[in-house]
Amino acid sequence: MTLSGVRRKTYQVKIEQIVIGSDAPVRVQSMTNTDTADAELTANQVKALADAGSELVRITVNTPQAAAKVAEIRQRLNDMGCNVPLVGDFHFNGDRLLKDYPDCARALAKYRINPGNVGKGVKGDEKFAFMIHTAAENDKAVRIGVNWGSLDQALAKRMMDANLALPVPQPAEVVMKEALVVSALDSAQKAESLGLPSDRIILSCKVSNVQDLIEVYHNLAARCQYPLHLGLTEAGMGSKGIVASTAALSILLQQGIGDTIRVSLTPEPGSARTQEVVVAQEILQTMGIRSFTPLVTACPGCGRTTSTVFQELARDIQQYLREKMPVWRLQYPGVENLNVAVMGCVVNGPGESKLADIGISLPGTGETPVAPVYIDGERKTTLKGEHMAEEFLALVEEYIHTNYGIQGKKREPAKVIPIAALQ
Ligand code: SF4
Repeated sequence: MTLSGVRRKTYQVKIEQIVIGSDAPVRVQSMTNTDTADAELTANQVKALADAGSELVRITVNTPQAAAKVAEIRQRLNDMGCNVPLVGDFHFNGDRLLKDYPDCARALAKYRINPGNVGKGVKGDEKFAFMIHTAAENDKAVRIGVNWGSLDQALAKRMMDANLALPVPQPAEVVMKEALVVSALDSAQKAESLGLPSDRIILSCKVSNVQDLIEVYHNLAARCQYPLHLGLTEAGMGSKGIVASTAALSILLQQGIGDTIRVSLTPEPGSARTQEVVVAQEILQTMGIRSFTPLVTACPGCGRTTSTVFQELARDIQQYLREKMPVWRLQYPGVENLNVAVMGCVVNGPGESKLADIGISLPGTGETPVAPVYIDGERKTTLKGEHMAEEFLALVEEYIHTNYGIQGKKREPAKVIPIAALQ
């Protein structure tokens, strides 16, 4: 669902069990921040990201020690029943690592190559060619991932010099943005001429400014048919990173641009890496593009509700629904479309609760201490007392079982391929 109702037409790239591009769902990606040489830690974080809903997970492959562990990470994930495709992030020495560790080349599903970090001149061309040949021989996809912070300097200089020779030169930032796009398109063309099929290539051009990102991706989308990976690089921490990523990605997605997304958040110390997956899913879900997890509609609270009961209930329910999703996704297809309302008082509580599949309207200050529960628009029961939260969660569980279980009228055909069938 976009402003025009149309997604941009692209080649479709199949990466193991995942299809990317055109009418395929917009995919959520993430990246680990563990040392890849620590296979156990990395496999566990990949598993956590996949459980949170990341459909591809990128890992850094920067040293021989890291490359040596990639096959083991893949095996550990398989042993845990996790089939998420792994993407190897290569810079500077990717050719050497892929050459010296052929099991790493085989274990990865996709290689990310940054044309700005491959190397200069003939040597750089040879390294790029080796990586592309390795991808083609192993039938792997490649993301040509250009980044503002590591733009191919030789190309940028050439384009700046050509610009300066014009009677009316363009501002430098216009030329630099064009250089990002040219770098991605030229590298993709080079990859195709080296034998990589067009349906094995994905492009990205990441920058850290929202308006620049939108402009660059408009330009890129108009000039090629490759699927595009979207992400605002170095988005930042906390609400700044979330807001900036949401602003940039939403505008492009609304225009049908973008086939995979990543929200590059700087994690708060001690916070879960999976937050970036949650934010990416929420961007897609709140825009009505894809559903992942039942969403909780909750009012902000005001002077009519002075206790924190409803805030805690809204938080606990959202957390509970999210924690249950790895299992529910398989058990109750369609449950991701469920709407739950948790409201603070009688002003908007009953109305909003009636619109949800299941909703509770908690008592505001001075109201009778009872909480009516609405199911499919009808008032079904009233809760009271200190166990209201547990009782409401039990009603939510019952609703899910009745409506999304084997005989449920809201159940959707299963979309998930059984893990066993993929191994
Ligand atoms: S529903 Fe009630 S408590 Fe919630 S914001 Fe509205 S008036 Fe305030």
